[in-house]
Amino acid sequence: MHFIDVILPIPLEKRFTYNITQAESEFLQVGMRVSIPFGKTKIYTGIVANIHQTAPLVYDAKEIHQILDEAPIVTQQQLRLWQWIAKYYMCTEGEVMRAALPNAFLLESETIISLNKTSVINEEDLKDDEFLIYEALQHQSSLKIQDISNILDKKNVLPVVKRLVEKEAVILNEEIYEKYKPKYVRYVKLSSKYASEAELNSLLGNLNKNATKQKEVILNLFTISARTKKPVKVSELIEVSKTTSSTIKALVDKNILEEYHIQTDRVQYNGEENSESKQLNQYQTEALQQIKNQFENQNVVLLHGVTSSGKTEVYVKLIEDVIAEGKQALYLLPEIALTTQLVSRLQDYFGEQVAVFHSKYSAHERVEVYNNVLHNSAKAKIILGARSSIFLPFDNLGLIIVDEEHEQSFKQFDPAPRYHARDSAVVLASFFKAKILLGSATPSLESYHNAQEKKYGLVEITRRYNNVQMPDIELVDLKDKYKKKRMKGHFSDRLIEEITETLKEGYQVILFQNRRGYSPIVECTTCGHSPQCPNCDVSLTYHQYRKQLRCHYCGYVIAMQQKCMACGTPDLDTVGFGTEQIEAEVKELFPDFKVARMDLDTTRGKFGYEKIITALEQQEIDILVGTQMLTKGLDFRNVKLVGIMNADNMLNFPDFRAHERSFQLMLQVSGRAGRTEKRGKVLIQTYNPYHKILQQVSTNDYVGMFKEQLEERYNYKYPPFYRLIKITLKHRDYNKVNLAADWLAKALVQLFKNNVLGPEFPPVSRIRNQYHKNILIKIPQGQHLGKTKEAIKRVETTFNAIGDFKAVRLIMNVDNY
Ligand code: ADP
Ligand code: ZN
Repeated sequence: MHFIDVILPIPLEKRFTYNITQAESEFLQVGMRVSIPFGKTKIYTGIVANIHQTAPLVYDAKEIHQILDEAPIVTQQQLRLWQWIAKYYMCTEGEVMRAALPNAFLLESETIISLNKTSVINEEDLKDDEFLIYEALQHQSSLKIQDISNILDKKNVLPVVKRLVEKEAVILNEEIYEKYKPKYVRYVKLSSKYASEAELNSLLGNLNKNATKQKEVILNLFTISARTKKPVKVSELIEVSKTTSSTIKALVDKNILEEYHIQTDRVQYNGEENSESKQLNQYQTEALQQIKNQFENQNVVLLHGVTSSGKTEVYVKLIEDVIAEGKQALYLLPEIALTTQLVSRLQDYFGEQVAVFHSKYSAHERVEVYNNVLHNSAKAKIILGARSSIFLPFDNLGLIIVDEEHEQSFKQFDPAPRYHARDSAVVLASFFKAKILLGSATPSLESYHNAQEKKYGLVEITRRYNNVQMPDIELVDLKDKYKKKRMKGHFSDRLIEEITETLKEGYQVILFQNRRGYSPIVECTTCGHSPQCPNCDVSLTYHQYRKQLRCHYCGYVIAMQQKCMACGTPDLDTVGFGTEQIEAEVKELFPDFKVARMDLDTTRGKFGYEKIITALEQQEIDILVGTQMLTKGLDFRNVKLVGIMNADNMLNFPDFRAHERSFQLMLQVSGRAGRTEKRGKVLIQTYNPYHKILQQVSTNDYVGMFKEQLEERYNYKYPPFYRLIKITLKHRDYNKVNLAADWLAKALVQLFKNNVLGPEFPPVSRIRNQYHKNILIKIPQGQHLGKTKEAIKRVETTFNAIGDFKAVRLIMNVDNY
């Protein structure tokens, strides 16, 4: 008798054992897919994790339907990583599997297929059964697996569907995403031939005689560029000169004007003529050498380099080395939407060898990257991706870069697996004996602490590239400004002065406000009522643009009310402010300038994010208002001023990481200012200018912040000294959540004594009609982590066996962020 243990893409505590024939056992290998029956009617795609001859004890093993692969598509290292993640983050292998594999690999009875309208299929290439389904889809927009079973009159249909997917005839459950192509805007400048006054005069003299129109165009070019101090667009020049593109073309043909595109010539237009040179400066060279030295006896090195110190170029050198050895490199970023700039930068160096793994790419593209990585193909030597790219089937991984390693978006919050991609990447690297470099201008306390403890190496770059000075950070006391009546809306006189000055010089401004919408609370001045979400325990946020009240937790929307819903008086007031209000105010203060906003609301649409970035790069935006989206490692050449509208709501956030986060956020936003020659300026408006964190931000004192925060973490028993597991209980019924939480807390206290905190309702205790209650378990150093988790699991099992608590969901969050 032969058996296989299969991982199913569902939350099962154990692998499931199936019966296979002798022939199947000879063909099958670990890591192949099989289609299997589960329960009464379900069909799933499972991964073979083990082949053996021991029958399961408590059930009769069923037979598999079919083998779906000819060779493994999941590697041993992947299976090892899944197992590690499931154990460490207290979830199931099935949940990890679902997160790890492209959807197209996971055909199951719930799968819905439809015609792939983007590809042309030659019907003769289809086998009979394939053709039947293909034809059915001509009359029906989609089919379920059950429908296909009926059409073909057999149970075992996943292989047919799989072939249709591979032939690109059908797609699964999803839309097709297009790749973003940046818009190329045409610009012109005077050819460098005419740089000298003599040359220019003689040119203008010549044109005087026979081409007055052309002369006018050139004079207009001067006027526009003197006025705006920006590159001049062809379209603008045509408009101002009241001419046509053929006149411009004539001038370009005569080599009097030069045409260029900002997207490609961005660097050059900044005056760095030898832009091709990627020679490291002294500080980068030293850092690179130190990293290499430390890699001799450390697997993990932390690169602490100030914003704009040129960390990326150091990464590039390390990547060059590993791919020269024929190995793969993984470059992890917090958010893939932010990669457009980086992708083109890396493609400049590495061309086709760069593959981007993007959860928003089409199923087909994701499968393609997956397969290229699996086969260590030349097209996927360097993988650029967000957290889920740690799940790719690396064949020969040599290096992992974790850029902006402090970013919390590396931690998956929901659903399971609730893994931290940085920490999992450290484990992944160890499987391959690969090196891993964590980079940041504001490292997480955890990583810096590990470096202090010599668990990680540490390398620093303290200067910006080109010796640009760090921005000058000024704190503005809001209490004082309000008292002296020096505020216009939410803008202090200092901020208005600096914006005015910056715009006058032709530079751009970024304004940071950590909340979106117009204002988070609408309040009746008569009775004090403020509209609440019916599904969640929060006030609705006012969005002026759509005249709506919205819940930021569940998406509930109603029209803005004309009068108070409670007492009926029309005296509604708004309390607090978000990006929308700042945008409205800034438009009024600076009516002649172009203002844009970047937050969840403006970037939702297709390429919304990229469009704003491109517009900012091409200087079609003078002032950009945005949320923390602005902070993420973007390299804008022309931003000179950053304004932080209000530092206090970040600092007062109820979380033990609030101070660390605020420091990181503010320094990162500040880092967007003055990245080229001119020193940048940052204004931080606050009611608490003497707050320690703000002082540390203004003096760029990372180490000071680190020491102080570390001491607090020590005193209050938080990471990195204690590990945390947060257990969240969820249920519709308030009383049930309370009862269940009390029971669970009591059971845990018996095990962990006063290292159990709670149960406690979070600040928003009801979301989507589910009450949440949290229990926090603190694990001191020296307490065995694995055994602790096992003990918690046992409590969970007992808990689940209590009839009354059946419907209460328990969510484990290890290393809660
Ligand atoms: P960081 O990631 O540390 O914030 P970047 O790597 O984005 O900094 O570098 C900041 C800017 O300096 C980028 O525009 C980059 O092109 C430029 N730069 C950095 N190092 C070099 C170098 N060695 N040669 C030319 N330009 C460089
Ligand atoms: Zn809600």
